Order: sequence, then C-alpha cells, then structure tokens
Amino acid sequence: MGRRPLIAGNWKMYKNCQEAVEAAGEISMLVADVLSDIDVMIAPTFTALAPVAEKIEDSPFFIGAQDIFWEKEGAYTGQISADMLISAGCKYVIIGHSERRQFFHETDDTVNKKIKAALDADLVPVLCIGETEQERENEKTFSVLDNQIKKGLEGFSPEDLKNLVIAYEPVWAIGTGKTATTDQAQEVHNYIRDLIGKILGTDLADDMRILYGGSVKPDNISELMAMTDIDGALIGGASLDPESFSKIAHFT
Ligand code: PEP
Repeated sequence: MGRRPLIAGNWKMYKNCQEAVEAAGEISMLVADVLSDIDVMIAPTFTALAPVAEKIEDSPFFIGAQDIFWEKEGAYTGQISADMLISAGCKYVIIGHSERRQFFHETDDTVNKKIKAALDADLVPVLCIGETEQERENEKTFSVLDNQIKKGLEGFSPEDLKNLVIAYEPVWAIGTGKTATTDQAQEVHNYIRDLIGKILGTDLADDMRILYGGSVKPDNISELMAMTDIDGALIGGASLDPESFSKIAHFT
C-alpha cells in the first residue's frame, strides 16, 4: 500500500478562538470529499484547539498542536503537556518548526525530548527540518539535515517511529514566496528517505510520510505532489484561507 498523503495547515499565531472555529467549520465542509483518500490536519494556536476540535467533532480531519513540552506535568509555567494536547482533541503535534528553532532556541536535543513525549502519548509527531539560505549556499544542506535527523531521532527504534511524519521545510522558502523547485524538493526528500533507510531500516523509510513545506500554494501543490518522495505538504500562509487550503487539499 502506498503512503497516504497528508495535507497539514500550520496557523501559527493567527486566528483567535472564534476565527479558528469559523475557519475550521468551513474547511470541514470544503474538504469532506477528499478525506477518504488523504489525511488533512490543521494546527491552530493552543487556545483554539479544544473549541476547534468540538466544532469539527463529526469530521474525520485531524487537529494538531504547534508545539509540546516534554515533561508530563509540574511547575513549568506556560508549558503544555502531551496529555493536555490529547484532552484538547489533538492527534498530531508539530515539533521543531524553524520558527521555534529561530526565535525560541529550540535545539535538536529539545526536539528529541519532545518527540519522545509525543510518542509516549500516542501523538503523531511532525518533525520539521530544513536548511537556511546561507547553509544551502555553502553546500551544507545535507549535513544540516543529517544532524537534525540523527540528533532529533536518537534513541528511537523503527517501531517507535512507525507513525512519525517528517516535514522538509527549507527555511529560505517559509513565508517568503520562494518555493524550492520540484527537482530541488524531490532531491532532498529522496536524500531524507535514504538516510532514514540507512539508520532505521528501509521498511520504515518506505512507509514514512515526508511532507514539503515552504510557500506551498494552490498553484504549485500539484507539481510538488507528483514527485515520488513528496507525500504531502505543511502549509503556513495559504492554510489561513479555507478556500485556498481546500484547493491545496484537492491537489489531484
Ligand atoms: C510553515 O510555516 O510551516 C510554512 C511552510 O509556511 P508558509 O507556507 O507560509 O511558507
């Protein structure tokens, strides 16, 4: 069986509870016809998770969080645990997004702890990796990805990672309007799958969903999805508008 595509929206710090509930309600109607063929996930901000989950209760699309903390509970002001995410209706959690690495000092070590916390709670982690423009110019793309993958996934067995999703998001393409060419994206996705095969086995690598992220829009999704190793997309800006997100989900 092939890999089931995943179209995921990251709403970042946009949309309050009312706006998120309204947009999620529209999306659930607009994407209803594709849910038998693909998975769709939306990651609203923390405060909107529970109301959105309640709103789309009858729709088989998924809710994700944009971050998680690795401890189960305790005196960690401002942090959110795996159990809290589950009780708010989450199935997925985005981990290591480049904005968290850039603005909130996320490291491969914290990413690793967060993946463990997510897996222990049966949440599906979406591990974000990607190189900066400077790293690409200095031909460091593959070594950067190597580090992010090896350190982020250190200590896990193939069985632990059977549901893990990787999102390749070149930092220079996020929110910039620049998209990697389909060949650039395919080359990196293929590299990632090979690397996963080498360190965790080809069975896991063959089944792992690897998403592309970085200025994905309705007009470039089809050519990206036509690539052998691209199994879906993580979408920021274009996921905020239900119509444009739905067009992306109808990529075929
Ligand atoms: C993202 O935030 O993960 C992202 C890919 O953003 P955008 O689609 O806006 O580039």
